[in-house]
Amino acid sequence: FTLASRPKGTPTEDNFELVTEELREPADGEFVVKNLYLSVDPYMRGRMNDARSYADPVNIGDVMVGGTVGRVVASRNPAYAEGDHVMGFFGWTEYVVTNGGGASMATKVDPNLAPISTTLGVLGMPGMTAYFGLLDVCDPKEGETVFVSGAAGAVGSCVGQIAKIRGCRVVGSAGSQTKVDYLVDELGFDAAFNYKEVDDYTGKLAELCPKRIDCYFDNVGGAMSDAVFMNLNFFSRVSICGQISMYNAERPEMGPRLVLGTLLVNQATARGFIVTNFLNKFPEGVRQLGQWVAEGKIKYRETIVDGFEKMPSAFLGLFKGENIGKQLVKVADE
Ligand code: NAP
Repeated sequence: FTLASRPKGTPTEDNFELVTEELREPADGEFVVKNLYLSVDPYMRGRMNDARSYADPVNIGDVMVGGTVGRVVASRNPAYAEGDHVMGFFGWTEYVVTNGGGASMATKVDPNLAPISTTLGVLGMPGMTAYFGLLDVCDPKEGETVFVSGAAGAVGSCVGQIAKIRGCRVVGSAGSQTKVDYLVDELGFDAAFNYKEVDDYTGKLAELCPKRIDCYFDNVGGAMSDAVFMNLNFFSRVSICGQISMYNAERPEMGPRLVLGTLLVNQATARGFIVTNFLNKFPEGVRQLGQWVAEGKIKYRETIVDGFEKMPSAFLGLFKGENIGKQLVKVADE
């Protein structure tokens, strides 16, 4: 799929075009990957805009960006043998001919360590985002209250469980009762609420976080963040990870002046981060999360849609909350 046009507001399937072309032979040093899973991520929305950001936009007519995991089906590169599993940023495509370098950031995956799909989720970029975005940016202490918005998603579900391991009181928000039940009953959150059923976020947070909020892991921004800032504790830390509630806004409301005073009064810190800020520490994150997953201390869910052609609709589904845990598209069987 290529980017056919830039969306105004909420994207539609018409913003993407399915293009078929003959696969070329790999040159010396190249190999061919057949993608098995495509990652579906909110950041892709930002790449559809022609705006200044931490990464360049996708050009009209270019293949949409995205992480994938697949299998090498032909190789003229001694480092990658036929049958090897490879994770990389190969984009919304079924096959790719690559040398594995540059922006594709190819890495070999050992399918015996964990299911290969986890390299796009709990043991991949979203897991690293949760791990470093919580531990490095917020550094939660035992007994503190951690609130995470977008709590039932790939990043949020992992954040909450890491905070529980740290001994915190963990509260989350998510967009359905099923998700709220998942957070409390399966993941061990102390409390959660369906933000679509609550009008007064500030009051709800005050009720569920009686000792106020020491750490806020922000996945959604907007009105939820306004309410969290009103409930911050002294010396609290805010990790600004995502603002999905505003990714499709045509004219975002401007509002920091309403809440900056709460940072002052509480002597609080808010920090935006991009997961690649922690790239040099990824091995630590993968090892620790891998251990917690193996020990059953971190559970993960994947919402898997079958069929390459479903990629645009699966992506649009992120903005409707169709996923629990990591959203993936399965392109092919092993
Ligand atoms: P995700 O949470 O698995 O999926 C997105 C979820 O966002 C949806 O399931 C939906 O759940 C929620 N959502 C959609 N529209 C919303 C709205 N208007 N208001 C509130 N919630 C809404 O995605 P993810 O990959 O884990 O990413 C979570 C956040 O982290 C995103 O904002 C993403 O951009 C950000 N992120 C940042 C970094 C970084 O490096 N800083 C890295 C990865 C991800 P509900 O049913 O709860 O609405």
